[in-house]
Amino acid sequence: MIPPAFEYHAPRSVDDAIGLLGRLGSDAKLLAGGHSLLPMMKLRFAEPGHLIDLGKIASLRGIAQVGNEIRIGAMTTEDDLLRSPLLAEKLPLLVEGAGWISDPQVRYKGTIGGDISHGDPANDHPALMLALDASFVLKGPAGERVVKADGFFLGLYATLLEADEILTEIRVPIPAAGSGWSYQKLKRKTGDFATAASAVLLEMKGAYVARVTIALTNAGATALKATAAEASLLGKPVTEASVNEAARLAMGICDPSADQRGDVAYKTAMCGEMTRRALLAAHLRAGRP
Ligand SMILES: Cc1cc2nc3c(=O)[nH]c(=O)nc-3n(C[C@H](O)[C@H](O)[C@H](O)COP(=O)(O)OP(=O)(O)OC[C@H]3O[C@@H](n4cnc5c(N)ncnc54)[C@H](O)[C@@H]3O)c2cc1C
Repeated sequence: MIPPAFEYHAPRSVDDAIGLLGRLGSDAKLLAGGHSLLPMMKLRFAEPGHLIDLGKIASLRGIAQVGNEIRIGAMTTEDDLLRSPLLAEKLPLLVEGAGWISDPQVRYKGTIGGDISHGDPANDHPALMLALDASFVLKGPAGERVVKADGFFLGLYATLLEADEILTEIRVPIPAAGSGWSYQKLKRKTGDFATAASAVLLEMKGAYVARVTIALTNAGATALKATAAEASLLGKPVTEASVNEAARLAMGICDPSADQRGDVAYKTAMCGEMTRRALLAAHLRAGRP
């Protein structure tokens, strides 16, 4: 299908984009990689009269280390993430997750900022951001605010972003040296979204878990942080029993919708299984200071 007619705008700065958003109001939509927005327009689920393309704003693209955090411009593509030596060294969980997104065509154009802003629980970055304890910089006419990923996702396609705000940057604290990580995703075929997926970041102290984060993709109306599962592992060794118990607790917060990928029971069970696998893989990668 062909989308309805719209006017195209290509601002050169974030301030110009915010000015356009304010002037055009609810008839305008921001365009990043277009891989979620354009399909919605073709299906007539979205019919904006104006598209404000962020693609010509150079300051929105790039990856840098500032102090103990990594800062990623919202227009940085999945392919940029995959090719970044800095991310490979400091945030391998993010690189592993990006590699699971669709196929090269989607990854060349799709952006990390668009993936997060879209508020789709089937997208992979929301759970990765929760597991990495990321923060987001949101800029609007009144200035800038920094919000935590935990609390940003409000519901299906709903986030803390106001209609006149732009997500400009993603900030991720660099995990402690020796942290183990894993993103385990079950999908039916290349190009499909997750049936279920789990992101784990794990810090060990000797044989015991010192810190762990677990977050789930496509397990409910938003990405979910499995806090009870995390708490159950703290201070314990990683054993078959402790991992199975964490997976059971993660399944307890799942509320997926039945669709062509499976019914509720199957998807919930797969969330548990992905969590079990992610914990075991992260444990194998973790150093033992
Ligand atoms: C076949 C296919 C398979 C896919 N599989 C996966 C998958 O497995 N995992 C996955 O995570 N994703 C998947 N996607 C989605 C893909 O990753 C999209 O690129 C992503 O969801 C949106 O990013 P985008 O840059 O394309 O944003 P767009 O589609 O341009 O925008 C999406 C929404 O976010 C808003 N927006 C964009 N950028 C900003 C910003 N900086 N500030 C505020 N609002 C903004 C837009 O207005 C729009 O509402 C798939 C897409 C396709 C077509």
